Amino acid sequence: MKTTLIICIFALGGWWTQGETTTHEFQKTVVSDSLKVDPVCKMKVKASSSIKSTFNKKEYVFCSKSCQMKFDKSPEKYLK
Ligand SMILES: [Zn+2]
Repeated sequence: MKTTLIICIFALGGWWTQGETTTHEFQKTVVSDSLKVDPVCKMKVKASSSIKSTFNKKEYVFCSKSCQMKFDKSPEKYLK
């Protein structure tokens, strides 16, 4: 009986360790996805965001369509 219990604890421990490794790798993935600053509201947005505009050959990303629209109307205002 005792042996079974010990094996169970070891199995559980292994499962926990694996879980932690996965979490760490997930965090790495998040960090490696570079962030850009939304020039309108200064929020950090993933560089891979699909809401983006190009101005003066530079690419800008936005948190939302409304920020993109504001920027498109008067980009100079947000690029000081
Ligand atoms: Zn924004």
